Amino acid sequence: MNAGELLRDLVRIPSESGQEDAAASRVEEAMAALGWSPRRSGRNVYAFLGSGGPLLLLNSHTDTVPAGEGWTKPPLGAVVEDGKVYGRGANDAKGCVVAMLLGAAGAFASDAPKGRVCLGFTCEEEILGQGLESLVAELPRPDAAVVGEPTGLAPAVAQKGLLVLEITAKGRAAHAAHGGGVNAIEAAAHDVLALGRLSFDRSHPALGLPSLAVTQIEGGTRHNVIPDRCRLVVDVRTTPDYEPEQIVAEVGRLVKGEVVVRSQRLRSVDTDPASAIVQAALAANPGARPYGSPTLSDWIFLRGIPTVKAGPGDSRRSHTPDEYLGLGELEEGVRFYERLIRSYFERVGA
Ligand SMILES: [Zn+2]
Repeated sequence: MNAGELLRDLVRIPSESGQEDAAASRVEEAMAALGWSPRRSGRNVYAFLGSGGPLLLLNSHTDTVPAGEGWTKPPLGAVVEDGKVYGRGANDAKGCVVAMLLGAAGAFASDAPKGRVCLGFTCEEEILGQGLESLVAELPRPDAAVVGEPTGLAPAVAQKGLLVLEITAKGRAAHAAHGGGVNAIEAAAHDVLALGRLSFDRSHPALGLPSLAVTQIEGGTRHNVIPDRCRLVVDVRTTPDYEPEQIVAEVGRLVKGEVVVRSQRLRSVDTDPASAIVQAALAANPGARPYGSPTLSDWIFLRGIPTVKAGPGDSRRSHTPDEYLGLGELEEGVRFYERLIRSYFERVGA
């Protein structure tokens, strides 16, 4: 099976989040052509290789963000130019899907490793929806996992989480001409400055410190009314060293407004760099250095399972016009996953 042709096929199939059916069917077809027994579960598709021994999950996603504006090539054209396949999803993450498929096929083609691999390609990653979360609930618990995202084949060993807070400052409305009232915008301004006093001292070896930013503010209705309400939105990027609850409590102590947690399910995750899966990823790409990733992915649904995030491509090309993946990068990706699978099972000594 030709990796570049399979990637081009997948890029030509539109698969924005929620519309992954046709892309999942194309993956299913490729799995069947490789002699596997694929299974479908909604818009997820998965297959097992090998029998008995530890279970390694290879996961990536079939969905993409919308094409958006600014393309000079057709976003679903899969045009090849200078050895690069152009199109939405080529880099994030259809290249990873193809490389995982053919890398696993290579690893099990002869002298198969003593262990089981589950290839699970899931939907709704770009909206952090139900794809991988529901697949994990159906599968036996993996002993280790790889999340395929464009990292230049370097293993991410930690990933920041996201905590979104709303802080509502309350005041008392009054006519601006008459004086009186309590200005909620002024109260919110005090809270914004108070958040600047929040400091973190536990630095994660791969991720450093959590970060916090006020990203939205909304208050007031008319120029002549003292506002009784002002709402702030705060984006916090967390590390495994702080539970979201701790940060929420600390914010609550600093501000006067009412703090409501909008989202805290996207927790930070990390993996011991000495673990077999990290060492296998490094053995598969000896030049690479483990690093901490600031961006979210479906890894959040694999909490507690030793996991690395690694794959061909460059995350800076994701979600941009003229997204592409080099055919050379794709071939490197295939060899990377093949070596990683072999190295992992050698290490866990199945
Ligand atoms: Zn992705």
